[in-house]
This record gives sequence, C-alpha cells and structure tokens, in this order.
Amino acid sequence: MCGIFGYLGKSDAAPILIKGLKKQEYRGYDSAGIALNCDDNSLYVVKKAGRVSQLERAVDFSVKSCCGIAHTRWATHGKPSDENSHPHTSGDIAVVHNGIIENYQYLKDKLKNKGYKFNSDTDTEVIAKLIDSKYSSGTELIDAVLYAVNKLEGSFAIAVIARGVNEIICARKNSPLIVGFAKSGYYIASDIPALLEYTKKVHILKSGEVLQIKEDRAELTDFYGNKLKTEIKNIEAESSDSELSGFESYMLKEIYEIPASVNRTVTSNKDITDFLKNKKFNHIYIIGCGTAYNAGRAAESYIENWSKIKVTSTLASEFRYDTRLCDKNSLAVFITQSGETADTLEALKAAKECGAYCLAITNVENSSITHIADKSLFTKAGPEIAVASTKAYCCQVALLTLFAAGFAKAGGNNELFDEVCSELLLETNRISEYLEKQNVSILAEKYKDTKSVFFIGRGRDYPLAEEGSLKFKEITYISSEGYAAGELKHGTIALMDKNALVVAIVTKSDMVDKIVNAVCEVRARGAKVVVLSTLEVEARFKDISDDVIIVNGGKFPTIAAVVPLQLFAYYTAKIKGLDADKPRNLAKSVTVE
Ligand code: GLU
Repeated sequence: MCGIFGYLGKSDAAPILIKGLKKQEYRGYDSAGIALNCDDNSLYVVKKAGRVSQLERAVDFSVKSCCGIAHTRWATHGKPSDENSHPHTSGDIAVVHNGIIENYQYLKDKLKNKGYKFNSDTDTEVIAKLIDSKYSSGTELIDAVLYAVNKLEGSFAIAVIARGVNEIICARKNSPLIVGFAKSGYYIASDIPALLEYTKKVHILKSGEVLQIKEDRAELTDFYGNKLKTEIKNIEAESSDSELSGFESYMLKEIYEIPASVNRTVTSNKDITDFLKNKKFNHIYIIGCGTAYNAGRAAESYIENWSKIKVTSTLASEFRYDTRLCDKNSLAVFITQSGETADTLEALKAAKECGAYCLAITNVENSSITHIADKSLFTKAGPEIAVASTKAYCCQVALLTLFAAGFAKAGGNNELFDEVCSELLLETNRISEYLEKQNVSILAEKYKDTKSVFFIGRGRDYPLAEEGSLKFKEITYISSEGYAAGELKHGTIALMDKNALVVAIVTKSDMVDKIVNAVCEVRARGAKVVVLSTLEVEARFKDISDDVIIVNGGKFPTIAAVVPLQLFAYYTAKIKGLDADKPRNLAKSVTVE
C-alpha cells in the first residue's frame, strides 16, 4: 500500500522520482506527489489526485534539484484528493508516509492547541507538523524526526526533507522501506524491484531504525539516536524481471509465467522439510489473507492427509481474535506474497506469543516476515506487479503441496515426496500446453454482460471456486461468489435466473455426479453454466451446460484449473475496458491492518 521513492545524489531528482513512482504504482494509485529540495533553497511541491501520469504532466521539470521525495497513495484516511495527497508539508518540512498513525487524532488536537492549522483529512499531516514543531524552534532535522517518531503510534515508513537542507531522513516502524546505495546517489523505495535499475546494494530498514542520508554518507540509528551499523545486502534479482516484455498487461504476463515460476519453486524447495525432523506438532494453522488464504485452503487437505495432524485454515485478520488452541505444540504457517501483509504479520506475532513455531511462506526474500518467523520458505514467482495475484498463488499452492508431502518424507515416505515433485513439474508442462491454445477471451466476450457470477465446487474445488470468484470480482467489478456446490440448494439458488452465470468446477472424478446435479438445478432456473474441469468429462456436461473448458490436469490439478479462471477474469476486465493491473480501491502489498 503506497509507494515511497526518494533520491539524493548528483542527478536531476524529478525524473528519477517520477520513474520510481511509476515502478511502484501498483502499490497505490489514487494520488501522487513529489517534493524537491531545490538548488535555489526553495521547496517545490506538486501533488495530484489520480495516476502518476497526471502528476508527471503537472511537474515543472526545469526546476533544479538533486534531492527529493515522492509518493503514490492508497488512501486510508481522507478521500483521494489533491489536498490529501502526499507529501504533506508544514513550514520547511515535507513528509511522505506509508501506513496508519493510530493516535493521529490525539496528536492533531494537541498540535491544534499549539496553533497549527490542518489542510488535509489524513493521519499523515500530523507527522509533518510534529517534526515542524521542533524543527522550527531550531532543533536539528534529525533530532526533530527522532522526537516525532517516538510520539507516533501505529505503522509508518516515512521519508522527510527540509527546505535548504541537503539530506533525507527515513524511518520505519512496520511498513517497509529500503535504501539503495549507488555511485549516482542514494535511492529510497518501498520495494526492491524499484531500485534494481540503479543498484543491487541495499539496506532494508528494520522496524525501529532511522537513516539520515547526506551527500557523502548515511548514518543509521535507532529511534533514540543510538548508532547502528547498516547491513548492505546484494540483491540477486534482475531489473528486467519487472518489465512488461511485450505483454499488454502485467496480469497476462504473470499468468504466462506460471509454468516457469512453479517449476522454479518446486526445484528450489526439494529440501523443504528438513526442519520438520525432530519436531512434533499436534495442530497446524494455515494463515493468510485474500488469495494467500485461498492457497492455504487449497492445500489444506493434502497437509492433513499426509501429516495426520489437524489443520485449521484461518484468515489472518481473524486469527488474532481466536488463538485459543494455539500453543507451543502448534505449527503456524503464514502465507504472504509480499512478506509485508500487515494482518499476517500481526497474526504471526500473536502466534509467537502463544509459543507456536512460525513458518513463513513468502515470495520476497528479506521481507519483514522473514525477520520475525522461525523459518521461511520461498516461492520463486519473481516480482508480481499486477494487483490480482496469479503466479504467486500457483507457486503458493505448489509449495504447500510439496510441504505437505514433506511430512510424509519426514515419516520415511520418500516415494510420495518424489512423486509429488514430479507431478507438480508435469503440471507445469500441461499449463504451458494449455496457455498456447487457450481461447478464454471468447467466453469473456460471450458473458461480459452477466450481472452476477457464482463459482461452485466441492471438496478441494470449493477453495478453488472462491479463488476464481475473488479474482473475478476484484478486477471486473461484477458481483461474484464462491460456493460449496452442495450449499446452493440451501439458500443461494434463490438468486438463480437468466442473468446469473454459474461456473462449475470439477477436478475429482468422484465429484462429477454431484456437480452434474448442481448444474441441472441451476440451469432449470435459467442460469447460464460454464463447466471447468481437469477431467475428460466433456460428454457428461455437453448437453446440460452452455460451455465446457477442459484443461489437462494430473493428480494435483488445482494449479492447472485456476489458470482458465484467472484468464476469464482478465479477459472480462479487458473487454469491459478496465485496467486489470490496477483495479479500483485496491493496491498490492497490503501494509495496513
Ligand atoms: N494513511 C496515509 C493516508 O491515508 C498513508 C496511506 C498510504 O500508505 O498510502 O494518506
């Protein structure tokens, strides 16, 4: 949520900042702004509701500055508007912020009593005013920032500049912030891919760190000014990983990257369960949000079957309120693509307090979750830019399935583990073949005017139906639900009429008869039906449905079956003229609770 970019060096800051924002626009895109510390000692601030391209048109690139900060916003407090956009200013101070200041009202009231007037509805503005309240009375910028960060409650990554002072101060509590070190200067960003064009040498700020960046050096301290040592890491990823590479959108590109990403994930995680040896658990929790939660549920039955341990899948935002049975004998598995999902991080902290062993499954090395989990396993999806997760979901399901088989391996059943590995790799070949010939856009065109869509499935296809539905609604804005197929007749069938579309999913042969029943029931009420199967069942459904999609699937067909669902969502959004990469009201990497 929200992308911060900053630059201090010898080059012109404005174009670098705009480029940095464009690279991170998927993190938030309701408004954007920049603040430059100009060569003539003035502060130049431009902020606009809308996309980065609108900001770009408003910026005067002839303004001379080699030091600035920038922000692309996902509003939490205050609607997207010019006034609420970042940077927020007060006197000589300009601040960009990612996160939520939970005690902002208290601080705002206090600052108002001191005579400060507020120009926005954001929580962020109190940060600028707090810093200014010290800085304007002669305190050094760094000390004014330290004063402020100690007063703030909630989560924040901030970058601060002051008119006429050639430095940037960054601080972090929870929300992510990374500083890149290059010959051409210092670069600050919310995520690593945005920095790769300039440098692979980065310091990832930890919660509770403040970095003062000056022309010739960067000094790291804690929130009390105690000196710390920067830990410069060399990042391996390539900047081209986050380019469009000829595709019309990131989402489509990322769907086409599924086979390679799943392949990488499986082959690089063959020693996945070494850490399980000598450990005994009596309960496994699988915890995530949105698509990551659906991935956990998709693999839940494999884990339970092969570990013989009770598995509970829970939403991260709910887990915190019901940790009753979680204790030192529990294994808690946390799934987050970005490794920064605030709800998931908080759930992990709650599980730790219960004494559980915490395992993170994430796509981003060195992300926040990797620093607080007992152990991390990595999906190898590469950067996922589109807000709607596609390849990361498939890698999560693959990794969890492998992890499940790891229990069998830890119990001496190597054969099953090897079989799962090779089956998952075969799955990637089948997906590649399907992607070569898929024509889902025809179905999207046919059903584009549908008012509501019901994705249904039984058993392991039920979480798949929920994932299909989530993908569909988040980028098409058409109302959709994922249902257990057997539940329809207990209420939801009341919604079936000629305006409804039902997508019935079946990947297991013993479910076919029951899905046939469900299809007949909804069709009898006028609904249109698309059947999606990984089995050779076309003949069973041909005469009772409107369309049948068959994708070749083996023993673990969830990954193959999700691909047409992702494509259906993608092409429907495209036909409706929507930006599938940046759906409204959403953002990648949800760093607020
Ligand atoms: N809470 C701040 C706001 O609403 C920052 C949100 C963000 O992280 O983009 O402006």
